[in-house]
Amino acid sequence: MDSIGPVGLQQGEGTPGCPQDSLLYPSDSSELVQDCLQQFKVTEPQLQQIQTSLLGSMEQALGGQTSPAPAVRMLPTYVGSIPHGTEEGDFVVLELGATGASLRVLWVTLTGTEGHSMQPQSQEFVIPQEVMLGPGQQLFDFAACCLSKFLDTLPVGNQGLQLGFSFSFPCHQTGLDRSTLISWTKGFRCSGVEGQDVVQLLRDAIQRQGAYNIDVVAVVNDTVGTMMGCEPGLGPCEVGLVVDTGTNACYMEEARHVAVLDEDRGRVCVSIEWGSFGGDEALGPVLTTFDRTLDLESLNPGAQRFEKMIGGLYLGELVRLVLAYLTQHGVLFGGCTSPALLSQGSIPLKHVAEMEDPSDGATRVHTILQDLGLSVGALDVKIVQHVCMAVCTRAARLCAAALAAVLFRLQHSREQQMLQIAVATGGQVFEQHPRFLSVLQETVMLLVPECDVSFIPSVDGGGRGVAMVTAVAARLAAHRRLLEETLADFRLNREQLAVIQAQMRKAMDKGLRGEASSLRMLPTYVRATPNGSERGDFLALDLGGTNFRVLLVRVATGVVRITSQVYSIPEYVAQGSGQQLFDHIVDCIVDFQQKQGLSGQSLPLGFTFSFPCRQLGLDQGILLNWTKGFSASDCEGQDVVCLLREAIRRRQAVELNVVAIVNDTVGTMMSCGYEDPHCEVGLIVGTGTNACYMEELRNVVGVAGDSGHMCINMEWGAFGDDGSLGVLSTCFDASVDQASINPSKQRFEKMISGMYLGEIVRHILLHLTSLGVLFRGQQTQRLQTRDIFKTKFLSEIESDSLALRQVRAILEDLGLPLTSDDALMVLEVCQAVSQRAAKLCGAGVAAVVEKIRENRGLEELTVSVGVDGTLYKLHPHRRTDLAKVQLWSLLLPAVLPRWPTSEESSGICWTRAWNPLVSSQPSHPRLPG
Ligand code: ADP
Ligand code: MG
Repeated sequence: MDSIGPVGLQQGEGTPGCPQDSLLYPSDSSELVQDCLQQFKVTEPQLQQIQTSLLGSMEQALGGQTSPAPAVRMLPTYVGSIPHGTEEGDFVVLELGATGASLRVLWVTLTGTEGHSMQPQSQEFVIPQEVMLGPGQQLFDFAACCLSKFLDTLPVGNQGLQLGFSFSFPCHQTGLDRSTLISWTKGFRCSGVEGQDVVQLLRDAIQRQGAYNIDVVAVVNDTVGTMMGCEPGLGPCEVGLVVDTGTNACYMEEARHVAVLDEDRGRVCVSIEWGSFGGDEALGPVLTTFDRTLDLESLNPGAQRFEKMIGGLYLGELVRLVLAYLTQHGVLFGGCTSPALLSQGSIPLKHVAEMEDPSDGATRVHTILQDLGLSVGALDVKIVQHVCMAVCTRAARLCAAALAAVLFRLQHSREQQMLQIAVATGGQVFEQHPRFLSVLQETVMLLVPECDVSFIPSVDGGGRGVAMVTAVAARLAAHRRLLEETLADFRLNREQLAVIQAQMRKAMDKGLRGEASSLRMLPTYVRATPNGSERGDFLALDLGGTNFRVLLVRVATGVVRITSQVYSIPEYVAQGSGQQLFDHIVDCIVDFQQKQGLSGQSLPLGFTFSFPCRQLGLDQGILLNWTKGFSASDCEGQDVVCLLREAIRRRQAVELNVVAIVNDTVGTMMSCGYEDPHCEVGLIVGTGTNACYMEELRNVVGVAGDSGHMCINMEWGAFGDDGSLGVLSTCFDASVDQASINPSKQRFEKMISGMYLGEIVRHILLHLTSLGVLFRGQQTQRLQTRDIFKTKFLSEIESDSLALRQVRAILEDLGLPLTSDDALMVLEVCQAVSQRAAKLCGAGVAAVVEKIRENRGLEELTVSVGVDGTLYKLHPHRRTDLAKVQLWSLLLPAVLPRWPTSEESSGICWTRAWNPLVSSQPSHPRLPG
């Protein structure tokens, strides 16, 4: 086909617009029409190509690539969450730049119930030409003045008002309420505004005005307003699509994928700025000669190529170019153009839509074109209608390819088989051209069949959306305050920790002297830590609280080999009769012996028994009381070794030689001590928590002898049972305590250990839900269920390698459907609860090591703490290398007030204890040599 000339330009002489000579008539006019229409056809592979290419540009821009500059900009808007539908209140919206030379103020009332939107009140003010071109301050003063005038008509009073600022000019946004104008467009040329934060300029102007107390909460562009103003469809509305004069879209992206953001949690709305997509590479195959002409004749040749194929400003223009071309080639209107047909902008979008209309389009073609000075024949009508359809169909299909790129990205990044999502649509093309949406819809289904998309038209040009952004921002701020208030009591400061340390120390001293104290300070009859020369094979039992383990420990020169098996203790056994419990234990040992080929051998057996026992010797331990969910009958007050021996007797033909009963803290200290002579403290953070340490024998009342040492089992889980922890205990701790099988017992343990942390978190989540801060305020049966929130979830949720997406997955598995704000808050709750636990533990350890130092009259003490327990070992922030530093920093606040300031001078060697622990070596009893 011939290349078309600049059809908008002047014609030759003679009758204006009429061909001079019949040679211009083509031999086959219908072929020319077909050829024109054919150019506007975009095949499915071409659409897919565009989709892929746009996706590539989006990813480059998200990743922060600058050279070559990606074809789209992907600007973060700092809108981090979509509406709940529960937003309510009155909001003021100021719109500048959306409607040409006017400014609109809206009063939007959100009712908090979906489907009950109230019509906003609004007023439009024409901006005088001299203001549009004058100093910036004058423009913003004008805006503030309009605001006041509008508000004067409403019964507002002097209440504080929250304002959303819709500012539709190219901006560089750096926060929800911070946005720098890049350059004016749309006829505005106010001095001193480019490069400035427009929110601050507006705030200053409102301040100068002084009439109302208005807080500018958010600044938003029209795409975001469209998305946010939309009521959710089948899925959440997380895409905004505007096809107005131009076109653009925004969607909710994972913040961690947006390179320019520091935040890597949660989501953020990204404005794609896809109008600029294109260039010859991506769009070349689908560009027609008419597109090239349109671009050349536009105000910004070479720019916004994609927008020029889709935006409402250009569709009429494309139709006009085709009609002019066909006329000039004698195919239409008898070959006679008109001045109107040859002038830019003479066919508006509205006319294109009307001429296409299947019912009375034909009549409209006649009137519209006759108004342009053309004489229209019957065949002309058909051709004109085909041209309109070709141009608009192509626009809708291209738009669909772009939208498909966004949907594809969402579906894949969220790993969903079927993405259910709502797309909010706004702009005059949707309003004036009904078929646009149906073609768009059809093509989207073709390109991304795995996405179930509902399209929802926006109301009142996004004003409601801007109010929504403002409301969400205000709601989040309010929720954050409530969250902070709720968690405040969990954030222990240095002074509080110093108090705990001091109280712990006092309770230790009293307990050692045999005075009333919440710390029992039980002698263990372990008088020395290992010296590394121990040898032999041992059987070991470990009854901890959650699991029961049987171990075979073989100690040869410098090597300890351990084989073990874990057996579960069903709750009915733990809470049944004592006889049943000990029979079960012996059954497990017999099973283990058989599997290990040890039947018939009588190895020395050590029993790690992690409940408070008063020991009278190495192989005698009277159970004082059960803890950690155990309540087997007829055991308290009995010698546990006897109970075990009786069970062995009942099970005839088994020979077992019980030589020692050891608390798990002691076992841990001893096993670490085997490799580290500085290890003189044992710490457990598992189902429960406890500690032991080497005390001077002279300080231990009730055990003969004044020289040497003895390991003391502190039973620190009970610390605070005399009420001394009362001030630190929150209402959540009280609830957990009340619901436990041992109310008002083990108060320290209940703030620290694995059996309780999940429950504390659950109670906090319940409270936050009742405040409406979480889960949209909807209480679920699931969350009311005791122990539904396992302590291991805390570890999983706090694990740095898991994205918030996984937090969501964990909670959704629990039947708690949540938003990304919810996920963030749940994460913060978990962090607060486990940090408090770590700090309390740290304060306790500080008291212990300080006591050892004083005992020995040392300026500096080098001591290692052997630690065991699944909570400790598997919690991400206690285990990793970085976590060592973190635990340091958690411990030191408690330690520093009483010790020299630097690590070196305090000389406590914690680090040496970590190695055996991190290698997850189980604790086992070691017999002192
Ligand atoms: P015990 O204290 O009974 O000897 P453990 O030291 O193995 O046993 O601790 C078990 C406890 O550890 C469980 O009750 C649970 O609360 C907690 N726990 C289990 N898995 C994890 C995990 N992945 N992260 C943190 N805590 C965990
Ligand atoms: Mg244990």
